Amino acid sequence: MAAKIGVLALQGAFREHINAIKKCGYQAFEIKFAGCLEDIDGLIIPGGESTTMVKLIEKYNFRPALDRFYKSGRPIFGTCAGLILLAAKVDNLAFCLNYIDIEVDRNAYGRQSESFESNIKLNSSYFKKPYDFKAVFIRAPKIIKASAKVQVLASLNSSAVLAMQGSILVCSFHPELTDDLRIHMLFAGMVKKSLNKPNTDILV
Ligand code: GLN
Repeated sequence: MAAKIGVLALQGAFREHINAIKKCGYQAFEIKFAGCLEDIDGLIIPGGESTTMVKLIEKYNFRPALDRFYKSGRPIFGTCAGLILLAAKVDNLAFCLNYIDIEVDRNAYGRQSESFESNIKLNSSYFKKPYDFKAVFIRAPKIIKASAKVQVLASLNSSAVLAMQGSILVCSFHPELTDDLRIHMLFAGMVKKSLNKPNTDILV
């Protein structure tokens, strides 16, 4: 069965994720209604503005459906504002979903004008060999604490910027804004594994 990946399309950079997932060879769907979560195998929560996203999640009553999705074990990938939403603890936000045991400082890497690119090293066992990934940081959140349950896959100046805990993957940068698809492929591998091959290794 082919994996179906949805992208939460309430606000933010959802179209770029849709394109990246399609380039990876998977079906991609914009998720605008909570009921649509029933039909997909993995979900991406994109970057954007977490205050706005939280308001829209409340307004369109997404929270119970997101909780069911998470509890079913289907993978979720949060990038930037998406990472903020998935965290256990965040400054200055009405709520976060608490699906990954990290504490986040929402705008620690500065304002829009202080956006930057940095080569980060991806050298976890999920990648065939270590390589550099050009990471784009835009008003990026910083993971200021990660519990022992969280696996750190890449860091910048000793803070985790790509991390995983069970079915949850997060990154503080924007992989959908570059042509390098390997982080999307890693997530697609998590979705495939949860769908039909629980004992296979994910190798990108
Ligand atoms: N720091 C922003 C927020 O709090 C997120 C920025 C982004 O997604 N590029 O929502």
